[in-house]
Amino acid sequence: MRIVVLGAGFGGLELTTLLSEEFGDDLDLVLIDKAEGFVFGFAKLDVMFGRATADDVLHHYAEIVKPGVRVVRSTIRSIDPVTKHVSTDAGDFEADILVVALGADLDPAGTPGLVEAGHEFYTVAGAFALRNVLEEFEGGRVVVGVTSTPFKCPPAPSETALLMHDLLNRRGLLDSSTVSLVMPMGVPIPPSPAASAALLEAFAERGIEWHPGKLITGLDPRRKVAQFSDGGEIGFDLFLGVPVHRAPAVVLESGMAVDGWIQVDPLTLETAFPDVYAVGDVTSIGTPKAGVFAEGQAIVAAARIAARLRGSGPAEATYDGRGLCYLEFGRDAVAKVDVMFRSGEAPVGSLEGPSAELVGDKVRFGSSRRSRWFGDAG
Ligand SMILES: Cc1cc2nc3c(=O)[nH]c(=O)nc-3n(C[C@H](O)[C@H](O)[C@H](O)COP(=O)(O)OP(=O)(O)OC[C@H]3O[C@@H](n4cnc5c(N)ncnc54)[C@H](O)[C@@H]3O)c2cc1C
Repeated sequence: MRIVVLGAGFGGLELTTLLSEEFGDDLDLVLIDKAEGFVFGFAKLDVMFGRATADDVLHHYAEIVKPGVRVVRSTIRSIDPVTKHVSTDAGDFEADILVVALGADLDPAGTPGLVEAGHEFYTVAGAFALRNVLEEFEGGRVVVGVTSTPFKCPPAPSETALLMHDLLNRRGLLDSSTVSLVMPMGVPIPPSPAASAALLEAFAERGIEWHPGKLITGLDPRRKVAQFSDGGEIGFDLFLGVPVHRAPAVVLESGMAVDGWIQVDPLTLETAFPDVYAVGDVTSIGTPKAGVFAEGQAIVAAARIAARLRGSGPAEATYDGRGLCYLEFGRDAVAKVDVMFRSGEAPVGSLEGPSAELVGDKVRFGSSRRSRWFGDAG
């Protein structure tokens, strides 16, 4: 049975690894991605704030050697979810089972003035370019703002505000600077009141201005102000933005998206098209767009595909909507938030830390994935 996996991000890499581990050379799986390699979302912040280099955090797809897996580096141009035919710059692929794990595309130009007057820290290129900008920043009004919903990793803007405060402190620029955070939610992490309270306390302690319930609709390059969705505005010297997110164009053109994203069965990850699964940020499953959730969904989709390959009867694995997220608090501390998004129920979440010990936990979270997905060379 031919399996084609579109996208080698958190979801595609986990699903591919699990199937290769179980079926080895009996597997016939093609994994397609246009990028040179994978970068963990959180590693973008590490590069931006000077804690790692771009080379440290890029894990090359060319290093993946897995039984039963062929990795193809190419851009996917069209997907037919009915025939399961995929066209790429490297040729066409026919699948018996298709998995769409293409993530969310980012559109900085979708917010007026962002490209001209601000910076975005969500693309790999944007975050890496910010490293020099932050090194050369001479102080002033820093605004971290979100331009649309949904957006990946809802804690990331809060982490960025806290790490920016650390950077200003380290560089002796706190007296001449302010940090403001503009977010669409009423609290930083809605499913976890404890995490939200800890973040609000950290903001208050550091004098980070918190602007809840607002989106940034545009930047005026001439006046150096960012406009809020409620008509207000805020002046900035350095604007760090979360750009507009959309499903990749190839997904929108495939007819698979409903209201902008792929709808899936929240328990099985099946789409409306037989033998086509979708996992991760490209879906509208109801969990936040984050790697841990993409990974959890990939585990269930892999288990269901494995049952099919084994011919061992109906698959039983179902998705529970659980995710463990690490949260940078600055001052060399990390917190762990355990959240559960069960379909039809209010999400709940607990908090551990922040503490210095959890810094090591977060490092192990990344290195364990890196060695499973890429081998030691990755
Ligand atoms: C600053 C920041 C911090 C973050 N921190 C965390 C964190 O601490 N924890 C966490 O869990 N998540 C975090 N995230 C979110 C996380 O990175 C994403 O949610 C996660 O990568 C989604 O996984 P995915 O498999 O759905 O998609 P992705 O990992 O985005 O993978 C999609 C893949 O599809 C490929 N692709 C897209 N279109 C095409 C095409 N047409 N042809 C070929 N290939 C294509 C892309 O190249 C990409 O490799 C963070 C994100 C950011 C921006």
